[in-house]
Amino acid sequence: MTSAVVVGSGPNGLAAALTLAAEGVSVRVLEAADTPGGGTRSSELTLPGLIHDECSGFHPLAVDTPFSRGFDLQSHGLTWLWPEIQYAHPLDGGRGAAAWQSVDETSAALGVDGKRWISVFGALTDRFDDITVDFLQPILHVPAHPLKLARFGAYAGLPANVLARVWSTEEARALFAGVAAHAFRPFSSPVSSAVGVALGAAAHRYGWPVAEGGSGTISRAMISLLESLGGKVETGIEVETLDELGSPDLVMLDVAPSAAARIAGDRMPRHVARALRRFRHGPGSFKVEFAIAGEVPWTYEPARRCGTVHVGGALSEIAATERQVNRGQMPERPFVLAGQQYVADPSRSHDGVNPFYAYAHVPSGWTGDATSLIENQIERFAPGFKDRILDRRVRDVAAMEAHNANYIGGDVVTGANDPLQLVFRPRATLNPYSTGIEGVSLCSAATPPGAGAHGMCGYNAAKRALQRLRA
Ligand SMILES: Cc1cc2nc3c(=O)[nH]c(=O)nc-3n(C[C@H](O)[C@H](O)[C@H](O)COP(=O)(O)OP(=O)(O)OC[C@H]3O[C@@H](n4cnc5c(N)ncnc54)[C@H](O)[C@@H]3O)c2cc1C
Repeated sequence: MTSAVVVGSGPNGLAAALTLAAEGVSVRVLEAADTPGGGTRSSELTLPGLIHDECSGFHPLAVDTPFSRGFDLQSHGLTWLWPEIQYAHPLDGGRGAAAWQSVDETSAALGVDGKRWISVFGALTDRFDDITVDFLQPILHVPAHPLKLARFGAYAGLPANVLARVWSTEEARALFAGVAAHAFRPFSSPVSSAVGVALGAAAHRYGWPVAEGGSGTISRAMISLLESLGGKVETGIEVETLDELGSPDLVMLDVAPSAAARIAGDRMPRHVARALRRFRHGPGSFKVEFAIAGEVPWTYEPARRCGTVHVGGALSEIAATERQVNRGQMPERPFVLAGQQYVADPSRSHDGVNPFYAYAHVPSGWTGDATSLIENQIERFAPGFKDRILDRRVRDVAAMEAHNANYIGGDVVTGANDPLQLVFRPRATLNPYSTGIEGVSLCSAATPPGAGAHGMCGYNAAKRALQRLRA
């Protein structure tokens, strides 16, 4: 029987394990942490009864993919829940903008910019199922839908501050800025629109759902399905070298590129090791979990009904903060991404107290404390917020890295989304999952299609590894 060891139990490690197990491979997953799941873990981080997502909260790109269609996680306990509004962007003075799943509803709320929102996102949303066929695999391939991909590419290739000029109001520009900031890139950089365009279209096509009961349900469902296929997950095992793994037919590494080079040691061809060690990581994140009495009192009312709130003000302000963090400077008023999963999933709350998370973009490896900067930014758009904090738990950049070795320097998206790495991830080669060692693949979010708890990196890597093995 073919055997495989997967190192790391993030969504990509588990997706790789499932893809192999479904093909009759005997799979062992080894995880360094005491709890499996990597970026899809959730727990009571503040007060008893409140379920916080430790990392990933919203899953637009996990709902409908070749992986999700191939593996019925719903029958193993996963239920997606949607907030009424997918994401919102408060501005000073109680103004703001919001994205509903319906493009038309979003457009209606954007006034004079409504038609232009439709002109960018309408056609992309209608064709998003076809676009993702190409978008969720390595860029270097013969596209299945070249014209649709070209339309996506025409917007995605632009710097975010150039695409934002399509809109004339501060509201519409800010709405796009918030979603573009998920790339952790300066808005003047080529291709800095790509992540915003993809997540924006995904919001209209699939919504930004949360997992009922916490994101840990995603990994629990994956593990339950894996076990039903005969696979095993072992926790508390940090793999340091390939030699520890015995001699399985396949090894899948759900780790950062530099860690793959370290684990493989002399067995990895030098040019591959050099390229993986040179892989560039992006800025870091500084995260605070809050227990809040009642809801966050956003002055812009739709923000109270949405899942994700982008906190950072106007596009020009966010562009400046993203430029600063990429240059290694900490802004006074950072971009903050706030998660109100409880709006879609009340089961995470207890007795009128809600779990709420907020993380700021900070420079890579930053050693400071951003707690009050985060709270000030939220208070700016939700006066009275601080009075509602009943408890908090802070995870600084060092703690992020300690929580998950893949978050190097606090980089939670496993690699800078710079133009070169968006195309060639993690290095310039036709098979980005290859480590140059027969049977050993890299399958973390450092490989295509990149960050997110969608499992597609693991799925693609496992498919290729099996193909090679059986060739
Ligand atoms: C604060 C935050 C918010 C996020 N929000 C979202 C979101 O809303 N939506 C979304 O889609 N994504 C989000 N993400 C990103 C998402 O979580 C990641 O892109 C995703 O988890 C990557 O999956 P992965 O399997 O590649 O790696 P990870 O999930 O990072 O898992 C890697 C696993 O490998 C283990 N490991 C590493 N080295 C070793 C070793 N040597 N031996 C054994 N085990 C090892 C780690 O402990 C970890 O469990 C967020 C991340 C963070 C931190």
